[in-house]
Amino acid sequence: MFDPLIIRDDFPILRREVNGRRLIYLDNAATTQKPKQVIDAIKNYYENFNANVHRGVYKLSVESTELYENARRLIADFVGAKSWREIIFTRNTTEGINLVAYAYALHNLREGESIVLTEMEHHSNIVPWQNIARIKKAKIQYLPTTNDGYLRIDLTDKYLKDASIFSFTHASNVLGTINPVNELVKTAKEYGAITVIDGAQSVPHMPVNVSSIGADFYAFSGHKMLGPLGIGVLYADRRLLEEMNPFLGGGEMIREVSFEKSSWNEVPWKFEAGTPSVADAVGLAEAVKYLNKLGMTNVRSHELKITLYAYQSMMEVPKIRLLGPEDSEARTGLISFTLADIHPHDLADFLDKKYGIAIRAGHHCAMPIHTKLGLTATARCSFYVYNSLDEIDVFVAGLKDALRVFKAE
Ligand code: PMP
Repeated sequence: MFDPLIIRDDFPILRREVNGRRLIYLDNAATTQKPKQVIDAIKNYYENFNANVHRGVYKLSVESTELYENARRLIADFVGAKSWREIIFTRNTTEGINLVAYAYALHNLREGESIVLTEMEHHSNIVPWQNIARIKKAKIQYLPTTNDGYLRIDLTDKYLKDASIFSFTHASNVLGTINPVNELVKTAKEYGAITVIDGAQSVPHMPVNVSSIGADFYAFSGHKMLGPLGIGVLYADRRLLEEMNPFLGGGEMIREVSFEKSSWNEVPWKFEAGTPSVADAVGLAEAVKYLNKLGMTNVRSHELKITLYAYQSMMEVPKIRLLGPEDSEARTGLISFTLADIHPHDLADFLDKKYGIAIRAGHHCAMPIHTKLGLTATARCSFYVYNSLDEIDVFVAGLKDALRVFKAE
């Protein structure tokens, strides 16, 4: 049975007190906490296996390489890739999207062509494209969102008919909206656009099968799914990877180097220049094992339950504005909001100091969607496998208390 109270026993940090209260961690969309299984796997790697990979002929290096490549295979299975060769280790989602921008778009996009993004993108899925658009003299267009936080699906034909690249988020880190990725990819393909999906807020929270979605590229971060900081994944269609130029140059990614020129290693190593974060890949594999044991369908059901409960309880708080879809089935496990005229930073500070509750405040690296909604900042609570309904009760009591303390009732 899926029980967050049992699950939380695996997370040493959740035993911590913050400002005299037991930590209530509700900033999971920013990063998640790590179970002892992941922490132990990293420790075990450094204590027993540490060696550089792909180079050594000695046992330790062979074992280290095996651990690294087995992690890749496990992750390929987890997201339903057809082959482990389609999995590139990166530092995070941001690096994955930059890899696509610089290794694919820089070489394939032509002057005047169109990159389509959406209005709900994180800066990670805006800035790399702005950089490329500037160099290539390409256009960027943003598929609009509705006021209640959905994409304007009715406009996809209009926006995609001239698109060369369509890059969009699977789930919004501000609105919580889960976008209809299959439908969006299908339409983009009809118009011959290359598709890139930002999976930072989806892979950790729901079953994702990259092969059935059919996107060309799909990026996500390990640290948002119980894994260590500093390791991420870019899935990419193998055919494209074979054709593409490398992103970074250096060791590991070459076949042969002369004083004049170099040739590239096979896919996926062609895209992994330099010594990789082996321990972090091993840690991420352990996180994937942990999530597999819980079952991603159960993870999603648990989050739906928490989100529905939080949404309904928060709606009862006076002077609150909740962003994103009202239908919790259409949301991932996060809720951005404003409370009366209390600045989100003040609210986050108050909840931390008085209740030991960690929430996010600011623009969540998504300034354009805030601007569109007429806001400069919001507060955001976000949930994961170890959060319980009791914690939501404390959080909502904290919001009501804030109204009193800030005299905003
Ligand atoms: N996209 C979305 C939707 C996100 O929520 C985040 C993290 N806040 C990112 C991209 C960037 O992730 P990272 O910082 O791990 O690269």
